Amino acid sequence: MNEHKLINKVVIAGGGTAGWMAAATIASTIGKRLDITLVESDDIQTVGVGEATVPSLMTIHQLLKIHEADFLKAVNGTYKLGIMFENWTTLGDKYFHSFGKSGKSCWAAGFHHFWLRAKEQRMAKDFCQYSLETLAAEKNRFAHTKDNNLNYAYHLDSAKYGQLLRKIAENNGVKRIAGNIDKINLHKQSGNIQSLSLSTGKLVNGDLFIDCTGFRSLLLGEALKVGYNDWSDMLPANAAYAVQTKSHRPAVPYTRSIALDAGWRWQIPLQHRVGNGVVFSTSFKSEESALEDLLTGIDGEPLTEPRLIRFTTGQRKKFWHKNCVSVGLSSGFIEPLESTSIHLIQQAIVWLISLFPTEGIDQNLINRFNQQMKSETETIRDFIVLHYHLQQRDDHDFWCYLREMKVSDRLQQMLDLFQNNGTIIEEQDDLFAENSWVQVMMGQGLTPKQYHPIVDMMSDRDLNNFIRHQETSIQKQLTSLPIHSQFLQLFLNQSKRF
Ligand code: FAD
Repeated sequence: MNEHKLINKVVIAGGGTAGWMAAATIASTIGKRLDITLVESDDIQTVGVGEATVPSLMTIHQLLKIHEADFLKAVNGTYKLGIMFENWTTLGDKYFHSFGKSGKSCWAAGFHHFWLRAKEQRMAKDFCQYSLETLAAEKNRFAHTKDNNLNYAYHLDSAKYGQLLRKIAENNGVKRIAGNIDKINLHKQSGNIQSLSLSTGKLVNGDLFIDCTGFRSLLLGEALKVGYNDWSDMLPANAAYAVQTKSHRPAVPYTRSIALDAGWRWQIPLQHRVGNGVVFSTSFKSEESALEDLLTGIDGEPLTEPRLIRFTTGQRKKFWHKNCVSVGLSSGFIEPLESTSIHLIQQAIVWLISLFPTEGIDQNLINRFNQQMKSETETIRDFIVLHYHLQQRDDHDFWCYLREMKVSDRLQQMLDLFQNNGTIIEEQDDLFAENSWVQVMMGQGLTPKQYHPIVDMMSDRDLNNFIRHQETSIQKQLTSLPIHSQFLQLFLNQSKRF
């Protein structure tokens, strides 16, 4: 195959969240002159988890013209204001990583600098008291306000989300072929993928292939032999047990992440059920013990059999190689602590669309895509590692190992800068902005030694007034918010579109 062959026929291998999101988005944005086929197996399950998201999901929903109420109805979704981290710093401790901003910042210094001085002078409450999202989560409140000042994401049923995306994709002309991919046929000279042979005997030809086959990475990993950068030394969790349970109480607007002796447990509340799971490292904990943690931690009747999922944290050495782009788990996985995988799926899709090789595959496009995805993935990895590394747990070897391990140079620089100056380095494309790093660093017990000198331009009285004003304004907004589940019910009932 000629590298500069026009790209007309796109083949997506795999129909999990990655496959159907790629199909729906490509078809509805640039699909007019493309012939898009998705091949999925009816025998091989999707990973079946991936139910907590980050706010960027709204961007892809805008592209796909998905109305929020339609979406929440279709996926039995709930709102998510952030994540409650329990036992992560020390046993019994907790903090909230919210999607919102804490207090008001100035051009030179974030709010935490003002808070540090106010706290020193006993004028300020705990840092979390200055985030509306945190207080709303604690009080189980949520609403769309007139000023739209709550930042949020969603919890969703991943199987139902796949169906929603499939419907959009098929409505936009995507053809679905059911069958197991048995063989990937490569072009003798170029080494590009030419076609997929299915167990049904069918041959599926294409110009550009998108590998969404999950952890198997059949196209990029197996056929094109693109290697894997293993991050297990920094992120040793390599397995999870997941189970769905019946809801016993109205859904709260946040994910719970509860640190255990050698791993952690998630709780994701949907309208009709709760998603539960235990993430652990088999080097520190047996599968039997993890299963016991899972079953003792649930508070509702199980609706499914507990399912064991094994993984290796890391990323493919290339995300795009020859005429194959990997999206989703086939390109790597950074464990689910901050619910970032679906975000990385949509980033890969958006980058692929913006660099789409209509006139033929060009190595410059491939390089740009790979650079971007590598950098976004590594930045997210460092943010996840931060939670594990910065803690004072000494009740298990797992936590001692994580505290003492070497982290990336970039993360070490972030930690040193924050500790010494309260400064956060932020890049334009970072998913987690200054406020996220500050909440997690302080939540995990790291307080800067000093605040920015601009804060001292304020008199004690002005600082006191400023801090009081932040508190009263948040309290006022908080009291106007209804209970999350009541708001959700009302919002869904009022919307007649679906
Ligand atoms: P899969 O869901 O595995 O889909 C693979 C597809 O390929 C399937 O359709 C399968 O049938 C098909 N396939 C495979 N082999 C063949 C073959 N030979 N022939 C034909 N078809 C084939 N992400 C988040 O954003 N938030 C979370 O809270 C979150 N939690 C997670 C918790 C855990 C424990 C794990 C492991 C992951 C979590 N993720 C989370 C990640 C999220 O689940 C995935 O990113 C998402 O589901 C996308 O998966 P996928 O489509 O890449 O792969």
